[in-house]
Amino acid sequence: MDKTDCTKKVWFITGSQHLYGEKTLKQVAANAQTIVKHLNACGVICLEIEWQPTVKTADEVTAVLQAANADNNCIGVIAWMHTFSPAKMWINGLKRLQKPLLHLHTQFNQEIPWKNIDMDFMNLNQSAHGDREFGFICTRLDITRKVVTGYWQDFDVQYEIDVWIRAALAWNDSQTMKIARIGDNMREVAVTEGNKVSAQIKFGYSVNGYGVSELVKYVDAVSDAEVEALVKCYADLYTIPDRSELAMKSIKDSARQEIGMRNFLKDGSFAGFTTTFEDLAGLYQLPGLASQRLMAEGYGFGAEGDWKTAALLRTMKVMAQGLPGGTSFMEDYTYHLESGRERVLGAHMLEVCPTIAAKKPTLEVHPLGIGGKAAPARLVFNSPAGPALNASLIELGDGFRLIVNEVEAVDPDQALPKLPAARAVWIPKPDFHTATRHWIEAGGAHHSVYTQALKTEHLADYADIADIEIVVIAD
Ligand code: MN
Repeated sequence: MDKTDCTKKVWFITGSQHLYGEKTLKQVAANAQTIVKHLNACGVICLEIEWQPTVKTADEVTAVLQAANADNNCIGVIAWMHTFSPAKMWINGLKRLQKPLLHLHTQFNQEIPWKNIDMDFMNLNQSAHGDREFGFICTRLDITRKVVTGYWQDFDVQYEIDVWIRAALAWNDSQTMKIARIGDNMREVAVTEGNKVSAQIKFGYSVNGYGVSELVKYVDAVSDAEVEALVKCYADLYTIPDRSELAMKSIKDSARQEIGMRNFLKDGSFAGFTTTFEDLAGLYQLPGLASQRLMAEGYGFGAEGDWKTAALLRTMKVMAQGLPGGTSFMEDYTYHLESGRERVLGAHMLEVCPTIAAKKPTLEVHPLGIGGKAAPARLVFNSPAGPALNASLIELGDGFRLIVNEVEAVDPDQALPKLPAARAVWIPKPDFHTATRHWIEAGGAHHSVYTQALKTEHLADYADIADIEIVVIAD
């Protein structure tokens, strides 16, 4: 993942007032800096937190929150009231704040010094009531924020901050995300449609259509030397069981597609794309291997013109960066309905991201069975057992809904020697019947984003920031 700018930061703003005098305010600033330093060094939080000077007046509050809005590198604001900060001071600034907000409800001192506690301690350590005043005005202003409570050195507190930062980072990425919808969508399909204007107003990202001929120009411009070099790279990374002339020709054609597509995406500053097997004019075949490898680089992808899933995949890849486990485009493909042992086999014809591969994929060439074109290359693999989830973003005319189903991935019962598609097998939570019924009743799509890197809390924080509905199906 090389697409996210690591110059991004979260601002840490401490609220106070002038009532306490210089000495206390100096201590407030020093303590806030100690907390920030510790959070930056704890190893749990994926992004740098930047300390900002304590705000003591309404003008200072408004100034710092407007500066946060204006700073492209600031992806969100953490606010903490070390002392009491009368919250009418915050109204003007909070009304204008356009960045995600986390309210950290902590206290610098972990323990009450029972024997020595005096009024100096009481005047300094006021988060218990100071943060309540701040919380009230956020609720009064109907401001969406995440409230994290507890001691700042506790892992759980740091983890919750990291979860929110990942969601805020993805939100920041979404504001300027560009999705290329190559060749429109699969005809007559409902769920892959939706209002792109509504999506741009809600999530910031833009979706625009491009004729396949635009892509073909890039593919045709790729040199033979570039193709040869990439095919060598494939041979290092993957097992290639069939090296016949016919298979290698398809693999070379795939390499050419991949290089052309990457150049097309780079030139247009796209973060995601869709394809459709119903519009392949000028391409030798539906891009399989190319889509798989571009997903692995961090691009969002949706098959059959599914731009919402392409954008969601990109968003979830941004959230998941650096975490163990992969994240892929997915489709509930077929079922194992043995009573009490129900399982879902998730796959797609070609396009499953190799970040979810259990081990070295095989690079295989097989006919697609639809579309009547040449046999395409694709990576084939199983995905490892363990906790995972599926997420689907749908558009309901009057808004968007995110549906999340936690699942337990399992090993396939047997080897699948004749299945030429990458796959994952899972048991949905809380059980097959409940999960599939709720997913269908909620309108969840057949396409989803499958991840072993993210938890429901990441998506819940994202849905809060985006101010959309979320339906969670879990234990
Ligand atoms: Mn599909």
